[in-house]
Amino acid sequence: MKPEGLPISVSHLMSINQRPAQVFVRGQGAWLWDAAGTRYLDWLQGWAVNSLGHCPPELMQALHAQARQLLTPSPALYNAPAIELAARLCELSGFAQAFFGSTGAEVNEVAIKLARKWGRLHKGGAYEIITFDNAFHGRNLSTMAASGKPGWDALFAPAMQGFVKAQLNDIGSVRTALSPRTVAIMLEPVQGEAGVWPATQEFLQALRQLCDEAGLLLIFDEVQTGCARLGTLFGFQYFGVTPDIMTLGKGLGSGVPIAAVLAQARACVFEHGDHGGTYAGNPLMCAAALAVLNTLSQAVFLQNVREMGQMLQQGLLQVSRRLSLGEVRGHGLLLALDLGHHRASEVVDACHELGLLVNAPRPSCLRLMPRLNSTPAEIDQGLQWLAEGLEAAG
Ligand code: PMP
Repeated sequence: MKPEGLPISVSHLMSINQRPAQVFVRGQGAWLWDAAGTRYLDWLQGWAVNSLGHCPPELMQALHAQARQLLTPSPALYNAPAIELAARLCELSGFAQAFFGSTGAEVNEVAIKLARKWGRLHKGGAYEIITFDNAFHGRNLSTMAASGKPGWDALFAPAMQGFVKAQLNDIGSVRTALSPRTVAIMLEPVQGEAGVWPATQEFLQALRQLCDEAGLLLIFDEVQTGCARLGTLFGFQYFGVTPDIMTLGKGLGSGVPIAAVLAQARACVFEHGDHGGTYAGNPLMCAAALAVLNTLSQAVFLQNVREMGQMLQQGLLQVSRRLSLGEVRGHGLLLALDLGHHRASEVVDACHELGLLVNAPRPSCLRLMPRLNSTPAEIDQGLQWLAEGLEAAG
């Protein structure tokens, strides 16, 4: 197949999913352009990656400045942006230390390694981690096993051992999953890929209490909920429950690949040789993340996320009422609209035709992930196209 706008075929790219025919060539703020010059309001934003929208000026500036200075000395040498980023993240979050990777899956695997090492040192070799049905933690073999995506346990068998599943917001199921081998509980404060299912505050508080009583580590995968997406800098601050280990990804680089694992002092158990990576903490990505974090952490920025989140939520509720659809879920600018039918992909296509990019994580719901510095005019425009797309798809 030749994609629209390119003279060559896509046949040399491994086909990993269904994609629209257009080739996308330029992004600016809330908007994305294809090769034919058609403009789309982007409520995918790289799947909640571009926290500041496409090509934000502060990020471009930081990348240019650092690219002229130093790209990659070696992970075996200190570099200034990594030192500064770790210090800033710890200052803002209250955690003790950070390790940097490139993707969410990578840092979640690091969190799993930290927990297993901690279990070996402090809990008689305990290694099991309680994770949750429908969870999503990434696509390497350890994080696939930690995830609770239906069908994934049989893919690429044999699955990695050491993960026991419980159900979100059901503390009884967590207690049932406990054993002398348990070392940690790991979850997303809002299950994003599952269709935006938030944990309740009471559930997270109960998990914290359970971990304290049983001597376990609590791990939050904040790859999607962190970096201001919920209207607080980190999702754990939204819920008022502090984990022992937290992972960040996606929005931390606002479009460039950087991810982080942060740990409280008692969970910082790596010794030399336990972990590493060629690009771990490279200065180019760390300088980029520092510039992004500088914007994300400002009170006025977080206020805008909350206000735009409210506006989008209200708008979605109105659309849902008018068209007799289902519930609106989520916090901040991580929201989902349940459709009450299983034709979400038709709605996605209809919105695409109108000029709005949205995502359907499940056949029955849409997930909305606009840039965090969205404006009221963008939210209005998106809601209007969304309503038209929903009507067009019936
Ligand atoms: N954890 C969560 C909560 C995610 O939403 C994702 C990506 N959707 C990941 C981990 C994996 O991140 P990455 O694709 O960068 O490996």
